[in-house]
Amino acid sequence: MSDSHDPQNPQDTYETASTPVGYGDDTIAAIATPPGIGGIGIVRMSGPSAFAVGLRVFQPAHALPDNAPPSHQLLFGRAIAPATGEIIDEVMAVFMRAPRTYTREDVVEISAHGSPLVLRRILEAMLAAGARSAQPGEMTLRAFLNGRVDLAQAEAVMALINAETDAGHRLALRQLQGELSAEVGRARGQAMAALVRIEASIDFPEEEVPAPNPSELGAFIADAEATIEHMLAGADRGRVLREGLRVALVGRPNVGKSSLLNALLRTERAIVTPIAGTTRDTVEEKALIGGIAVQLVDTAGLTPTENPVERIGVERSRDAARSADMLLLVLDGSEALTPLDESVAAELRTLTQQDTTRPAILIRNKADLLRRIPDEAAQALWPDAPLVATSTVTGEGLASLEGQIAALALGGAAQAGDVLVSSARHKDALRRGLEHLQAAQVTLADGLPLDFVAIDLRAALEALGEITGETATADLLDRIFAEFCIGK
Ligand code: GDP
Repeated sequence: MSDSHDPQNPQDTYETASTPVGYGDDTIAAIATPPGIGGIGIVRMSGPSAFAVGLRVFQPAHALPDNAPPSHQLLFGRAIAPATGEIIDEVMAVFMRAPRTYTREDVVEISAHGSPLVLRRILEAMLAAGARSAQPGEMTLRAFLNGRVDLAQAEAVMALINAETDAGHRLALRQLQGELSAEVGRARGQAMAALVRIEASIDFPEEEVPAPNPSELGAFIADAEATIEHMLAGADRGRVLREGLRVALVGRPNVGKSSLLNALLRTERAIVTPIAGTTRDTVEEKALIGGIAVQLVDTAGLTPTENPVERIGVERSRDAARSADMLLLVLDGSEALTPLDESVAAELRTLTQQDTTRPAILIRNKADLLRRIPDEAAQALWPDAPLVATSTVTGEGLASLEGQIAALALGGAAQAGDVLVSSARHKDALRRGLEHLQAAQVTLADGLPLDFVAIDLRAALEALGEITGETATADLLDRIFAEFCIGK
């Protein structure tokens, strides 16, 4: 490690991603627009011979000065098959000189008419002229290996493409702009501050380097712990913003679960996607509530039964309730509470015993009818849950229910603004980083040799580095980029 290391500078990382030798030597090409017919389709190429290959496939309408295309300028012309000179389409092409490109390599993009046949023929022309087919995510992998983006930012590209909600989109954009990376860098810098002091005293014991003060080391480590804990605190909300929330509607038959499900879907402008493989026991639909993707699961009921066929349905309902992020317990407000209501509520309390923090909402439905359940009686079924009165007939209370779902999903009044972590991979790496820091604190407090503290600190830095990619293994990179689409 160099002694010019600045622990306060998050850019100054412990290990640096090394570009595998030979990587990016070749030129890759792919259709970058989605399959199918469209107004425009784009074929993209990246690599050292992108310009040479591009000039064999693209014939400009007007002669280029010195036969060299000006960088970052849209040119009109024709795409041709280089072997035969046959015209494939009239196109626009842009030649972009490294390093101001997506991959930091030379990039050429040809925009043609959005015909799958035309695009495939342009791609084939590029392959015939010396490019090779890109793997999924390979363009973004190159951007990462060439240091244009870190790993978290590369993943944000995919999250941005896949975002289905405004909230998910905003989160991905912030990650792409480096907010997560900066915060991880801060935690690494703090852990590094402790490590450099220890290493200096180990490397130069006879020299003038004073033995580090344990309380000073402890303070640096505590700073790093606090930074990580703060990120972890928002992680579950981040997952909800990105992946959506599973919400189970539970209650005895006829209280209005299906009607509520339909009402929540109807009030929403966006999506109604039936989920494949649903059974008559549980019905799942996607809705957009307060900018959050919500998977609503209507359970057939947690009603005890002797009928073996129905028992399967009860089991499915239990599983749905068990795996849900949020539970909506629905009551028919026009009838007095029945033993079945009580047993469903009791069942839910048992199911969620392990996780008392699981958000739940009590719904007194059929509020348009004469009310037979006093609030206190309803509330007694689930003391911590907010109580909402709804009617699927008049629409009363539905907006308030949506508000409650969104608010609970995001952790009460907390702002989505401080959420940075949305991926399970990042959360896992943060957790491991935190555990190593906690181990370092224990080692330090026990007065063990500082070498041991250094081991824990290095392990923590390694775990954090997996997020931004400094310490990511080739295997991890393969797994991440394999999920990308071709051409990205
Ligand atoms: P589920 O078995 O819990 O899914 O209940 P359903 O949604 O099938 O509803 C049972 C019955 O209650 C149906 O006849 C609905 O039309 C009726 N219902 C549902 N919600 C309301 C409501 O808010 N007000 C009134 N008056 N009837 C309702």
